[in-house]
Amino acid sequence: MPLDFIRPDIRAMHAYHVARLPADWLKLDAMEVPYTFPPALQNELAAALARTEINRYPNPADSTLPAALRRTFAIPEQAHIALGNGSDELIQFISLLFARAGAKMLVLEPSFVIYRRNAELFGMECIGVPLKSDFSLDLPAVLEAVKTHQPALIFLAYPNNPTGVAFARAEVEAVIAAAQGLVVVDEAYGAFSGDSFLAQAGTPENLLVLRTLSKIGFAGLRLGYAAGAPTIMQELAKILPPYNMNCLSLTAAEFALNHMDVVNQHIDLLKQERERLFSALQEMNGATAFPSQANFITVRLPDAESAYQKLWDNKILVKKLHGSHPLLDNCLRLTIGTPEQNDAVLSVLAQSAS
Ligand SMILES: *Cc1c(COP(=O)(O)O)cnc(C)c1O
Repeated sequence: MPLDFIRPDIRAMHAYHVARLPADWLKLDAMEVPYTFPPALQNELAAALARTEINRYPNPADSTLPAALRRTFAIPEQAHIALGNGSDELIQFISLLFARAGAKMLVLEPSFVIYRRNAELFGMECIGVPLKSDFSLDLPAVLEAVKTHQPALIFLAYPNNPTGVAFARAEVEAVIAAAQGLVVVDEAYGAFSGDSFLAQAGTPENLLVLRTLSKIGFAGLRLGYAAGAPTIMQELAKILPPYNMNCLSLTAAEFALNHMDVVNQHIDLLKQERERLFSALQEMNGATAFPSQANFITVRLPDAESAYQKLWDNKILVKKLHGSHPLLDNCLRLTIGTPEQNDAVLSVLAQSAS
């Protein structure tokens, strides 16, 4: 039987679950942006896509997207850029690149679960260092683990998911300074925070900055990028599939970068809504919202299970973090939506709090 030949550790895994919802539900579980381009721009995009030569392989050397990313996000000259089919794909290939026999990966917990998954997939031992109870970084513990385990790879999400908290910049710098291996600063939510390591990408050699268009309105494009030292990026380039990026995504992404004024308006709206939602949650009986630098807020409630169910009964899907890690006890993660969507969430939560 062919199944018997499949790696037993993979057979024991579970597939990543993606919720499928009827159209009238509010989907606030996956940090998707609730806004799209206005119709006139959609038509322009359609025309650009129609002109794209889908009969040709996408030649990465021909793509003007890396240069556009460099211009738009001020990626420094010293950094080389790699494109990924979502930053998920880059996380996968960076992990593969460092998965020598005996190599270890260090992650913070709770953080993005995909890091550990890739460690498992490529046979790396994964060292998890718990965050403090306010979801800040436990620097002495991280430095101790770096010294003890000498990890080949460290993943830091900055700001962190699923907590929304951004670690202190000086602490991230201390980890980079202490590490011999590569430190990946994953800035999936960088557009919503006040800080970034992108300007340092490429120097020092052991810093790689990971970004994505997913959380700023283009999750469907699957467009992630990495900026890092040329020495490292040249090795990564050897193992990325030659045609990993499809030409429709490349065209659409470049179109998006040419309309950053619209994208930035959406980001600003979501940041304003984040602050409004945060204040409202803070005032709610028994709720503790954690200060977020991302486009979601993680909140601890007296009874997350019942609040989740009440939201569900009102056709609102959020992420139930409760049960996934002891530090996330009674926590829900709320993606920031439109003002009306956020009001709907607040009104259900207020009912269940009273
Ligand atoms: C969403 C997310 C990603 C994945 O983004 P894609 O580019 O859509 O693959 C990576 N890292 C973190 C921390 C995320 O939350």
